[in-house]
Amino acid sequence: MFKDKNVLVTGGTRGIGKAIVEAFSKAGANVAFTFRSSEESAKQIAEELGLGDSKIAYHMGDAADSATANKVVQSMIDDWGSVDILVNNAGITRDNLMLRMSEEDWDAVITTNLKSVFNYCKAAYRPMMKQRGGKVINIASVVGVMGNAGQTNYAASKAGMIGFSKSLAKELGSRGVTVNVVAPGYVDTDMTANLNDAAKDAMTSAIPLKRTATTDDIAAAVLFLASPGADYITGQVLCVDGGLAM
Ligand code: NAD
Repeated sequence: MFKDKNVLVTGGTRGIGKAIVEAFSKAGANVAFTFRSSEESAKQIAEELGLGDSKIAYHMGDAADSATANKVVQSMIDDWGSVDILVNNAGITRDNLMLRMSEEDWDAVITTNLKSVFNYCKAAYRPMMKQRGGKVINIASVVGVMGNAGQTNYAASKAGMIGFSKSLAKELGSRGVTVNVVAPGYVDTDMTANLNDAAKDAMTSAIPLKRTATTDDIAAAVLFLASPGADYITGQVLCVDGGLAM
């Protein structure tokens, strides 16, 4: 379905980002992904996926750095001709009650999670506008919709992504560019690995579908929003959360 489509995914070496990279590549897209530290993982993913027909590329760099975003987008345009689908996935947590939250932890989360979205959308804005088409999918969180004690920085960054995405959807709609948000609930990844069993059980019992999400559950929603079937959907938040946030 995505043959000849050029996809850019931030934070693609593990967890949800890796599943998104794999799903697009297996669906025939050319995929470029970014990562911050593990070149070894990036290389391994590229080697595995590069065996198929579609192209794969990876770029090291902090998503919060605008120069890197410009460079990555430009290299996709130079090498492949376009950025058709942009998935802003890179994100971190630095949880603490606000009373104990440091300014550094506030800044790190807002910069990594929210400024990175600005950086990559800004870099892809003109190319997508000129090609009169494109799909932007931003990975937020149900925490940006519901709030969560101990995550004021993270929830603010994710709620910020939602307001940002709706605004950009209004700005770019007339150019045929859609901007949507996928808001995962609880997904088993390295990000959530340090939660203890009691916290995990409490969370699962609050989910109507009584299970946590797989990374493939999230990737499937992203691929839907990037597909022609979602051409008339923009500015929406798709919660992939087993019913948690309804
Ligand atoms: P993860 O920690 O397993 O992976 C995060 C990815 O982002 C990694 O590839 C990492 O290298 C990359 N990354 C982090 N900071 C970066 C930076 N500054 N520059 C470039 N890359 C950077 O996390 P995950 O669980 O796969 O989360 C992926 C996204 O989904 C995040 O935006 C997260 O907030 C969101 N999310 C996760 C959950 C969950 O339960 N795991 C729930 C809701 C939303």
